[in-house]
Amino acid sequence: LVSLIPRTVQSFFMNELSLFTQNAVQSATFLLLTILLFVNGVGFILLMYEKADGLLRELSNLDPLTKIYNRRFFMLKAESYYLRHKGDKKPITMLFLDIDFFKKTNDTQGHLFGDEILKDLAQNLLISIRPIDLCCRYGGEEFVLLLHETSLEQGILVGERIRENIRNANLWNSQYQYTVSIGAFSAIPDSSISLEQMIEKSDQAMYRAKKAGRDCVVGIDLSD
Ligand code: GH3
Ligand code: MG
Ligand code: MG
Repeated sequence: LVSLIPRTVQSFFMNELSLFTQNAVQSATFLLLTILLFVNGVGFILLMYEKADGLLRELSNLDPLTKIYNRRFFMLKAESYYLRHKGDKKPITMLFLDIDFFKKTNDTQGHLFGDEILKDLAQNLLISIRPIDLCCRYGGEEFVLLLHETSLEQGILVGERIRENIRNANLWNSQYQYTVSIGAFSAIPDSSISLEQMIEKSDQAMYRAKKAGRDCVVGIDLSD
């Protein structure tokens, strides 16, 4: 484009210069114009491609309903965190969260209302954790949180805070209230336990919370 500027200026001062004059400058001008058109076209396509690719990548990492990480992406991120901090001697806590009697909510209030609850819960979780922590929709009405450098006691406190927030949420000024059961499991990332086993343990702790009457947090460690 810059190299075409002298030719443009030249056309202002040389009246006898027609577009069809045959000389080297003219040929170079047409060649440059052709290259410019080509670069413009390809550049535009590449930009659009990059934008679409980024959007697609982002969408494939998020759960479509709640817009938080999906299980696949959570596992990828958690695995890389786990490997990075193996041997650090600092504990991480896994929280496994399940909505209580959610089937009944769907049956009595409808599935769309149920979906709104899931979105509300996801936003509640996002504001309850630090930016370095991870959270995802693990399955239907189940969510998993990975809390960095957090002991079991601290993890249970976080779980209690989340549970209280959810129980006291004023949902669209309606009388509707919902509760969650949370299982907590904490361990130091090392070869004695894998990430999958940690999630499995937190799931077991969540089932104990269900058995204990729901709307509570139960924590277990390796000895349980
Ligand atoms: P519990 O307290 O033992 O967990 O009882 P529950 O009714 O929550 O447990 P159950 O596993 O029987 O039910 C889970 C329900 O979650 C069933 C399913 O309809 C609902 N569910 C799963 N995914 C979605 C979703 O995306 N949207 C809605 N609205 N409901 C969902
Ligand atoms: Mg469930
Ligand atoms: Mg449930």
